[in-house]
Amino acid sequence: MKQAISRRNFFYKTAGVSAGALILPSLSGFATQRKTDANLPLIITSHTNETGQRAMEAGWEILNNGGSAVDAVEKAANVIEVDPEDTSVGYGGLPNERGVVQLDASFMDGRTYSAGAVACLENIKTPSSVAKLVMQRTDHVLLVGKGALEYARAWGFPEENLLTDKARKIWLRWKEEMSSDDDWGIPEHLQKIRKMESYWQDFPDIEHHYGTTNVLAIDKNGDIAGCTTTSGLSFKLNGRVGDSPIIGAGLYVDNETGAAGATGRGEEVIKSCASFYMVLRMKEGRTPQQACEDALRMIIDRYKKVNPEFFPGEKFVAVNKYGEVGCASMTGKRSPQMSVRTRKGYIRHEGIVAYPGK
Ligand code: ASP
Repeated sequence: MKQAISRRNFFYKTAGVSAGALILPSLSGFATQRKTDANLPLIITSHTNETGQRAMEAGWEILNNGGSAVDAVEKAANVIEVDPEDTSVGYGGLPNERGVVQLDASFMDGRTYSAGAVACLENIKTPSSVAKLVMQRTDHVLLVGKGALEYARAWGFPEENLLTDKARKIWLRWKEEMSSDDDWGIPEHLQKIRKMESYWQDFPDIEHHYGTTNVLAIDKNGDIAGCTTTSGLSFKLNGRVGDSPIIGAGLYVDNETGAAGATGRGEEVIKSCASFYMVLRMKEGRTPQQACEDALRMIIDRYKKVNPEFFPGEKFVAVNKYGEVGCASMTGKRSPQMSVRTRKGYIRHEGIVAYPGK
């Protein structure tokens, strides 16, 4: 009797023929099916400001001309990284406690199941491009610190001072106000009559600045790529690495399912492998929106017995291979948003606050 060949059977049968030939033939089979999807190609980012929109247009131009998801993601991420006004990513990012800008970034290519990342990279404006080269041109996944810088230098990336005046002033204010027991700040006899310096009034809230960008794209072949890039948690300890360059934490891409990215308090994202979990949930049939919410709930469940009042500030984004998107944040008064660019144009997609009022 003839057995119907389901997609899964087809996959296994192909695997039986030749392990070496397994991946590419089966992937192109999936790709043909995806081409019919009206939402594709598509590019998204967690950034929704003017720079985020410009990044989407830059990435979209590549996708619209038949370019790859990898190239579109890199182009879009670079637009955000080089913007000096953006204090959360790349050039102009807020520094660590010593006033040094240390950048983290990761890249994944779903077509080839490749990943690359850099952590604690100094003096290079576009860490996502270095991460892409680690992915494409080395047999490693993660380079850190001086090694990452050496690698970037080898490829001709110019070294530049990444600390803008704006970021330096925010850092100085943090430094001066962090403690009354150190010697930063105005002399003691003037403290009672001190006035806030005028440029500091622009930065009223300096406690903990989060901010990162996730860029995820699906090209005309249905291939998926993603990048997460950040200057990390502001005023972090020297050498601290967040979730952004950790594959499975700040970013995960699976060509057969979709992709996910995280921003927010990286420590929780690392412990929960949040991006991997979101992709796993989508593989199990959850929508991208549900997957984002599932991951937030999973983190909170872990703390139920430890500290039920702990709701770390996270924002997750996800896209499945059909171009459906999702976005959720842990807390906050306003719905989280993400930028989405398809052939229908640019939209700002609104997500869900999982634990409003917390
Ligand atoms: N996730 C980043 C980190 O922990 C920071 C952020 O997204 O704001 O380094």
